[in-house]
Amino acid sequence: MPANSTIEISSVYGPVDSWRLGKSLGIDLIMSPSTCSFNCTYCQLGFIQKITTERRIFVPTEKVIKDFLASNWKVADVITISGSGEPTLAKNIGEVIREIKKITTTPIAILTNATLLNDPEVRSDVIEADILSVKLDAPDDETLQAINRPASGINLETILSGIKKLKDDIKSLNPNSSILTPELQIQIMFMPQNKNKTKELATLLSEIKPNEVALNTPTRPYPSGFDIITRGAHGEDAKKIQFSTKPLKQLTLEEAKEIEENLKKLTGLNVISVYE
Ligand code: SF4
Repeated sequence: MPANSTIEISSVYGPVDSWRLGKSLGIDLIMSPSTCSFNCTYCQLGFIQKITTERRIFVPTEKVIKDFLASNWKVADVITISGSGEPTLAKNIGEVIREIKKITTTPIAILTNATLLNDPEVRSDVIEADILSVKLDAPDDETLQAINRPASGINLETILSGIKKLKDDIKSLNPNSSILTPELQIQIMFMPQNKNKTKELATLLSEIKPNEVALNTPTRPYPSGFDIITRGAHGEDAKKIQFSTKPLKQLTLEEAKEIEENLKKLTGLNVISVYE
């Protein structure tokens, strides 16, 4: 199948095993070309083909629901909206969540890079999910440029203000509860450029106060081109990628443990790690 063809390719993939969420059924609202407001140096999709902050409908909701019903959705522990780029770029993300919730009560998670959260429409869309896993790899603009290579106009301030507005919106849903629903998780990918910035990241995490912090390290190699299979490629599937791949530098177990302990001590937050 050519890399740029979406014909006959489902917008639903998996379930794949997720270290954090169990059996995760992936929903891809972007498909091909890969499209994101970041171009992370560790992205499993390789170099992002279209870097943009412009929202639009990439995959019609009818196709997503048709693909969902044809998938193995009943065995999933969680439905994860992620896929071939930044899912909040898809203008129909809220509509898709509402349609899936008519079919099943399986929790819905969204993996987002937080770049569009200043838009109230995006926040009201994502808040319909059950788990919001928000990326925050950089405590300063230099590190943001080095790791995430954002679309022009995006800086750390854009990201932090979006996350804080999202948290306020979540709190306003249940003002008397100390538990955030939907659940807010901050996910940090540790790379050589940020592994010594634990203290600075801890300061930001203490301001945000999410339900949970998830520490990650690149477990999937960086492909030299985009093949839609990479959106859910783990284990055997990863070997089917038609492009050459480059392994990325991972944290050692000792480094991961030290960062985890430091973040726990500095923030008092619940911190989990891919190494567990
Ligand atoms: S935010 Fe996600 S999809 Fe976008 S470039 Fe980074 S890792 Fe890839």
